[in-house]
Amino acid sequence: QSIQNAHLRAPNSAPCMELVINGLSKTYANGVKALDNVTLTIPTGMFGLLGPNGAGKSSLMRILATLQEADAGTVMLGNIDVLRQKDEVRKVLGYLPQEFGVYPRVSAYQMLDHIALLKGVINNGQRKDLVEALLQKVNLWEHRKRRIAGFSGGMKQRFGIAQSLIGEPKLIIVDEPTAGLDPGERNRFYNLLTEIGENVVVILSTHIVQDVQELCRNMAIINKGQLLFAGAPNDALKEVKGRIWEKSIAKSELETQLVTHQVISNKLIAGRPVIHVHSESRPDEGFALVEPTLEDVFFSHINGTEKAVVG
Ligand code: ADP
Repeated sequence: QSIQNAHLRAPNSAPCMELVINGLSKTYANGVKALDNVTLTIPTGMFGLLGPNGAGKSSLMRILATLQEADAGTVMLGNIDVLRQKDEVRKVLGYLPQEFGVYPRVSAYQMLDHIALLKGVINNGQRKDLVEALLQKVNLWEHRKRRIAGFSGGMKQRFGIAQSLIGEPKLIIVDEPTAGLDPGERNRFYNLLTEIGENVVVILSTHIVQDVQELCRNMAIINKGQLLFAGAPNDALKEVKGRIWEKSIAKSELETQLVTHQVISNKLIAGRPVIHVHSESRPDEGFALVEPTLEDVFFSHINGTEKAVVG
């Protein structure tokens, strides 16, 4: 057991690596500006990159994962120039893309063994230990002989984590990991992510506020390619404290409220709309001050650029 764990543990003596992004921009051939002068420092630990669909998250993740070119800017991971030293990045990178594309018709064991070989674990005994330890870590040991193509969404994501952990990565990028997972699968996935070492930069790109709330010590909010907030979730909450107002309204009132107030979210609770408004003072008598959530922070920031309607 201790030998197996040795393969998975990030060495404590490793120097602390930060990811420093400076003035990063990307415009696609069709004119869409996916990233607009993004400057952001990402420390080790779990970092949440929050933004609505189309915000630019995947573009940023793909550039960091050396799969796409930026137009301008610099990215440093410790001493590695990420935009230029792509081979160096790939040696320390674990990447879990949004979609694997076609899932291979080989077993989980065969696939991990194959990836480990590609990543340079050439010693047969070491590779066997590693693959077995990974399968146990992500709770796929029982399913190791099954084809990945037949896995559930949650199992595929856990397999994704297993493959991303091969080679003791220093930078792990996880793009929209919990989209499409049921609550149980999402919990198992959360638990797995929290076991990844503190000395690793883990970037979790997501449009699901709960992902960031439960997992991340630091976060950023992006929308339309621009960085809107960077810092600790608690600091984000402090920014809007005392300014989030709640009111339960009749469905017929909704139109008027949307026009007259800065409505940041609109939720049905027991079939009745409950709106949140961002305002310095009480919008009208029916509103009560509420303790802000990260969801309020998120919608306060992207409000004005997006119509804020929460399920
Ligand atoms: P997110 O991951 O936050 O949903 P993306 O980075 O995928 O955002 O997309 C940001 C913007 O760039 C969107 O408007 C999207 O339509 C556009 N975009 C993404 N990839 C391409 C591409 N290959 N060609 C053209 N436009 C793209």
